[in-house]
Amino acid sequence: MRRAKIVCTLGPASDDRGTIRELADAGMAVARLNASHGTHADRAEVIDRIHAVDAAVDDPLSSMLDLQGPEVRTAEIDDPIDLPTDATVRFVEGDTATPEEVGLSYAISTVEPGDTVLLDDGRIETRVEAVDGDVVTARVVSGGELGSRKGVNIPGVDLDLDVVTDRDRRDIEVAVEGDADFVAASFVRDADDVYEVTDAIENAGGDIPVVSKIERAGAVDNIDEIVEASYGVMVARGDLGVECPLEHVPMVQKRIIHSAQDAGVPVITATEMLDSMVHSRRPTRAEASDVANAVLDGTDAVMLSGETAIGDHPVRVVETMDRIVREVERSDEYAETREGRVPPAAEGSQTEALARAARFLARDLGAAAIVAVSESGYTARTTAKFRPGVPVVATTPRDRVRRQLALSWGVDPQYAAYREDIEGMIDAAVDTAIEAGAVESGDTVVVLSGMMTELEGTNTTNMLKVHVASETVATGRSVARGRVAGPVFRCPDGDLSDAPDGAIVVLPATFDGEFAGDTGRIGGIVDARPGMTSYAAMVARERGVPMISGAPLPDDVADGATVTLHADRGIVYEGDVTPREHQR
Ligand code: PEP
Repeated sequence: MRRAKIVCTLGPASDDRGTIRELADAGMAVARLNASHGTHADRAEVIDRIHAVDAAVDDPLSSMLDLQGPEVRTAEIDDPIDLPTDATVRFVEGDTATPEEVGLSYAISTVEPGDTVLLDDGRIETRVEAVDGDVVTARVVSGGELGSRKGVNIPGVDLDLDVVTDRDRRDIEVAVEGDADFVAASFVRDADDVYEVTDAIENAGGDIPVVSKIERAGAVDNIDEIVEASYGVMVARGDLGVECPLEHVPMVQKRIIHSAQDAGVPVITATEMLDSMVHSRRPTRAEASDVANAVLDGTDAVMLSGETAIGDHPVRVVETMDRIVREVERSDEYAETREGRVPPAAEGSQTEALARAARFLARDLGAAAIVAVSESGYTARTTAKFRPGVPVVATTPRDRVRRQLALSWGVDPQYAAYREDIEGMIDAAVDTAIEAGAVESGDTVVVLSGMMTELEGTNTTNMLKVHVASETVATGRSVARGRVAGPVFRCPDGDLSDAPDGAIVVLPATFDGEFAGDTGRIGGIVDARPGMTSYAAMVARERGVPMISGAPLPDDVADGATVTLHADRGIVYEGDVTPREHQR
């Protein structure tokens, strides 16, 4: 499986159900809606479509509603206007724009003479000359054509706008009503801003995790507290590259990714990753390298914006990104980086210590996967923090958690219903991993359980176990306890003369006789007939061999095939799944 996940921004080029499905099939794990565009009603509909596609595909697909936040934009206009270099322009709050006066979504009156006002991702640069009430007069330093609703950035100036606007509150209602999986918060400055967004979600009656977009220089300074307050973070390189000097972006990206990974918080690297593919069928070499480097930095996810929202071939872009990421993940260089950067476990955290141990156990035992039984998703995310070399199959009884884990590095989220006891929960988790094709019967898996609900057989929420995955071929009732592996020997008439040593003797429902020959060859008995007091049951107890009854063995299990009889559990497994130290 691919470890780094793909986030796609949906838009006019991709928000119909058919294309969402195609994007999901191509590898999209998270569908992002950018609330800076479109209407609330559109977004509500698209969230429903994302859920419908999630229900129709195998891998989880989650939805992220990205709030516009206190973003300043220029007025909506039909035709672009020209702002020539050296011209003077007035900025006012309003919804018209001419070459002399440009309306903005918010007044920018906290600026001072000498401050820089950038329009359209910094393509047009102006310098403030005078401020008179809400009217700001500026000189155009570097001119150009200004289109409709372009972003306005004023580096280093706090415009004192609420981090949650009225428009955002309506979007939060849409997210809560539509059961969106994530809300992305724009322009947060510190942890308090993140808590304000979380409060707004709670006030709307929701419990949606917040992904904080790091797009201001101030947010970079406060990265650790923002990471701590957030479910996830996004390196929002578009605004970041305008708010900070451009040359700072590459190293800031690495620092944010490392802070997030060290805290076990998913991180998305965003914006212009394959930008030329908005129109072109192939990315530039530099773009391919950019995606690869973000993966090498350890990002949980890489994001597409205009490429999928308004691009000419959104599905092809995802396929291209998928190929680039897989190529990196196959490389020795990537393995080296991953092995060389395993963060320490947070002091005093049992879950972290066990997850870190699981990572090294899986490597040293050659395990096929780590199976994380996770109720809230925390155990699975914590396992991902240590970037193990094997997939983390996360089973959860909560469908929402299953979708949310789609964002986390290396996690293969699967639904598994609650069971009454911890053993049952673990068996169900491993069975789920087999059914999902992540592990095969006979594979060693490291199981980590982080159930919050108290289950029978455990009084602790943290458990680590090395387990051999096994497919159940028959179940019945335990007659004589024990666990043994051996070759299947079908014995319709009791004649043991051809039985191999240690045979798992399989008796049909019609068996009515006694054994003839050397009963010392019997390793275990699987009787199709129910009951605890048959002749075979007496032999089993006398000889001390495991036996189950009421367990018809399917015809497709061939004579001579190795099975494991786990009589304590009343189960016959495919293959030899006795613990390694008991194997001959
Ligand atoms: C960004 O600035 O990089 C970003 C992802 O935010 P938006 O697309 O909302 O501008």
